[in-house]
Amino acid sequence: MKINRISVYQKDLPLKDPYWLSGGRLKFEVLDATFVKIETDSGLIGWGEGTPWGHTYVPAHGPGIRAGLETMASYILGLDPRKLELVERAMDTCLPGHLYAKQPVDLACWDILGKATDLSVADLLGGKRSTGTPAASSVSSGEPDYMMGIINRYRDMGYVAHSAKVGGSDTDKDIERIRHLEANRREGEVILYDVNRAWTRREANIVMNAVAELGVTFEQPGETLDDIAQVRQVTTSPISVDESLVTLQDATRIAREGLADVFGIKLNRVGGLTKARRMRDVAIAHGIQMFIMATGGSVLADTEAAHLAQSIPDEFIRACWSCQDMLNVDVAPGSGPRCIDGFITIDDTPGLGVTPDESLLGDPVVIYSL
Ligand code: MG
Repeated sequence: MKINRISVYQKDLPLKDPYWLSGGRLKFEVLDATFVKIETDSGLIGWGEGTPWGHTYVPAHGPGIRAGLETMASYILGLDPRKLELVERAMDTCLPGHLYAKQPVDLACWDILGKATDLSVADLLGGKRSTGTPAASSVSSGEPDYMMGIINRYRDMGYVAHSAKVGGSDTDKDIERIRHLEANRREGEVILYDVNRAWTRREANIVMNAVAELGVTFEQPGETLDDIAQVRQVTTSPISVDESLVTLQDATRIAREGLADVFGIKLNRVGGLTKARRMRDVAIAHGIQMFIMATGGSVLADTEAAHLAQSIPDEFIRACWSCQDMLNVDVAPGSGPRCIDGFITIDDTPGLGVTPDESLLGDPVVIYSL
């Protein structure tokens, strides 16, 4: 089997509501998504999506994905998409780094391998749990009551896990946010406090020590792994790392040095499922739990994360994310697993299990072919 055609689509995905990170420092209103259709000489077709969370969040942006595909296309054409690590090596050789540009290609190849073997991607990843994965909401930063209002909207949809965005130079305000949300947290609910790198070491130490008795988990409470290592020495709250978890070397360092209790694996950030499954295995080997997510995107990106999440044993999976619930558009109506009563469940459909409606994507911006 050979890849003989790669079609690239660009689609703006507007958010239902403006979204703030880092204590209101960063605002997001629309995501720049890239969809990739890979066709083969066998007739099998695979789909991938890469959608960074804007261009101010981490070093990734929509035009960068499309530029990366331009550079890599001639090295990918002609390869057998079922041989995932040969495709991975070809991409890593022709374009070192730029992991976020590779993820949609990797996903499309997993989709084809699943269709070729009649297995879901979750089963290809080792075999899926019979139960679905709780979806976590993503709660924009703001005044405590505003954030509680967002959580209440998600509760109405069945969500029991929430990722609440904190992180600003006003440490008193962050302490107020956390105490307010924890005071109103329901039995069985989990709230992760996501700092998105916004705190200095000093700010992290102040807030985390002020609410230490609550035992809540903080995600990415500093810019770098060195920052988190310092914070770890003088605080006791559990820590999740996502934005500083980019390479397998990051994963092994975090695990070996005990820098985090949770891996937040972002598939676009780490370069796709082929690389992410190695991080999953490192996490399991070290007793580290996982939160699996896209960096953003439609039902395709969510479904990729849900496949990996459902390949993780119960005791190691915290949640996945349903970004599609934050969007004003659906590129695959009637297709793919959706968040139902707060859970996303993968079925036995071969491959990814979701196909976009091409009429909703518009014409390809470019087609590469043999
Ligand atoms: Mg995060």
